[in-house]
Formats: sequence, C-alpha cells, structure tokens
Amino acid sequence: MKFAKRMSRLGTESAFEVFARAKNLEAQGRKIIHLEIGQPDFKTPMNICAAAFQAMKDGYTGYSPAAGLWEFREVIAEHISQTRGIEIYPDEVVVTPGAKPIVFFTILALIEKGDEVIYPNPGFPIYESVINFVGAKAVPLPLREEVDFRFRVEDLIAAISDRTRLLILNSPQNPTGGFLKKEDLEAIANLANKYDFYVLSDEIYSRILYEGQHESIIGFPDMKERTILLDGHSKTYAMTGWRLGYAIAPKRLVEEIVRLTINSNSCTCSFTQMAGIEALKGSQDFVTQMVAQFKQRRDVIVEGLNTIEGISCLKPAGAFYVFPNVKQLPLSCGELADYLLEEAGVAVLSGTAFGKFGDGYLRLSYANSLENIQEALERIQAAISKLK
Ligand code: PMP
Repeated sequence: MKFAKRMSRLGTESAFEVFARAKNLEAQGRKIIHLEIGQPDFKTPMNICAAAFQAMKDGYTGYSPAAGLWEFREVIAEHISQTRGIEIYPDEVVVTPGAKPIVFFTILALIEKGDEVIYPNPGFPIYESVINFVGAKAVPLPLREEVDFRFRVEDLIAAISDRTRLLILNSPQNPTGGFLKKEDLEAIANLANKYDFYVLSDEIYSRILYEGQHESIIGFPDMKERTILLDGHSKTYAMTGWRLGYAIAPKRLVEEIVRLTINSNSCTCSFTQMAGIEALKGSQDFVTQMVAQFKQRRDVIVEGLNTIEGISCLKPAGAFYVFPNVKQLPLSCGELADYLLEEAGVAVLSGTAFGKFGDGYLRLSYANSLENIQEALERIQAAISKLK
C-alpha cells in the first residue's frame, strides 16, 4: 500500500510500543512491573462515574455542540479564571476528546510549512511529531538537568528566529517532572511579546505539583491574546480513558479548532462532559489524596534510585515521572531500557523517546503501587550490579 508522503513525517509515542512488548513478556508468564505508562493507577472517583450514568439516564446521549456543552464551557471558564487569576469567558473554551487533539488542532490551525515552532526537548513526543507532520521546522529547546530541567533563557533566545510562530511549554513537565518558575514565565512573556509568537502552554499536570504554586503564562501582561492553554481531566481525575480535554484560546482560534473538530470527531461525548462538570464542581478530596500518594512514591523512588551506583536522580516538583541520569552506566539509555525489561522485568522508557536531549536518561512513571515501586527498585539494583 502506498501512503501519503506526510505519513513518513508523523512520529509516535514509544510508551505504547514498550507497553505492548511488556504485555508480550507477561503472556509468556513473566511478572513485569509497569513503570512506562503515563496514567494514574487510580480509578475515576465514584461521584464522577455516577454523574456520567445520571447524564445517560437524562438523555445526554446524542451529539454535543462541536465546541462542547455550554454548561461545561462555563464551568471550565470559571475554574481557569479562579486558578490562573485572569478572567476567562465560556466562548474562549473549546472541549475536545482528551487534550491531545488540542496540540494537533492548534498546530494545524496556526502553522504553515516553513514556519518554526520551538518545543521542549526532552518533551512529550507528540509536539515534535505534529510540527514535522505539517512541514514546519521543529526547533528544540533543551531542558537542562543543571537547572532542574528548566531551560536557560539564552537557549530560548538562541532558538528564536523571524520565522518563529509558536513556542510550546509544558509545566509541570513530561518526562522530567520539572516546572517553570515565575521568572521563567516572565522572560517568556517578554520574548513572546517582543518577537510576536504564540505560546501553547500544556498544563495537563497543573494539579500534580508537590512544591510551589502552579502559574500560567496566560496571566502575564498581554499574553491572553497569544496563549493557548491546554488542560484536561485525564491526569487530575484519573480519567485517561474517558477522553476529556480542553483549551482556552482567543475566540477566533476557538472557532478554527471547532471547524477542525467538525471535520474530524464531530464533538466530545455528551455524558462524559456532564461527568467533567461534576469533576470540577464536586469534592476535590480525591485529587488531594492522589497527589499526597504520588508525593510519597516520588520520595521513595528518588531515594531508591540514588542508592544505585551509576544512577543519580533529581527530585521532581510535579507530574508523576522521574528522569534519572544514567550516563555513568556502561549501556546507552536505549540499551539500558531494553536490558531492564528483559533482565529485571521492569518496563521503563529510554530518555531518547522524548528527543535527543533525553539521551543519557530514563523515564520512570511512579503511577504504580508503593509495593511495586519498591520491588522494581530491588530488581533494577540487582540487574545493574550484574553489569560490572
Ligand atoms: N500533554 C502531555 C504532556 C501529556 O503527558 C499527555 C498525556 N500523556 C497529554 C498532553 C494528553 O493527555 P490526554 O490523555 O488528555 O489526551
């Protein structure tokens, strides 16, 4: 079969591929510990499930407006206004099936062939993939361990050219767990206004932060009209399979994203959106408890990794990933990820799955039980001691 040329430029997410390999080993009877997957290991809270069922009974089973149910957009606008400290109106909100389409649709709507898009590297692989897909130039912004996996402002300035149309930010960040400080956002806002580019601010992990306060670029002077804020329910409410995400964007861009929606998936599931309202309006105890558990696991995994010779690991401020440095070990990070899966039965991702600046690191998700994390640490330690 002959495919369109553009398909050769589309990347993928290797977490799904490693997950499939780990499942294959499980089918052969091996016990694998999954630290490759980027989703909370908690069940969606019952009040949210009940709201979905009630909505089904109430007849929310047909198409929803392409932009999302108005009542959901109102609740999102209120939530973002409260948490980001800037007034947002419901017609500046667009709802999509998961947050991923926001990346795809924003880039499709704004970026031409030949434009340049700056994106974090190591970073969520979908950014680079979609930039390449539309024929634009993907310009990596290196995130550096020396500055807790933030970027250096000089690196950002060096990445900007007169073709820069968009900068992608992700804070708290996948895969490093790093987060941007107020001074970083200030520098970005000044540069965005000076050089006239848009910012896609991926804030999907905004509620999973252990130290400090999440701040959004959207609240900085003159940034509202050039920011696309991405957020959603997948991580915060353990709803990855429900597919519920949204963007806050200038009204004209919302209209274009709605047209892309009409041309692709038509709308987001209606009763899922009703459940999404309950998630935002109902008790937030689940989020507090989940984040407290993640924090405890983070401390255990960071401490455990740092006791293994040849591995050093920063303590990340947010998300549910650690990104240990494995440069002292005799294998490349790709070889090491393969070795840990085969030898130790622990599925992790190579840092290079997140771009070239991820070389020399692994990504481990600690969205798994403390018991499994402890066992994984023992297995990793034993496998690595055999490398000498
Ligand atoms: N952005 C980042 C940084 C992510 O890690 C993910 C999920 N892995 C998404 C966006 C997409 O989330 P969703 O499941 O809502 O599409």
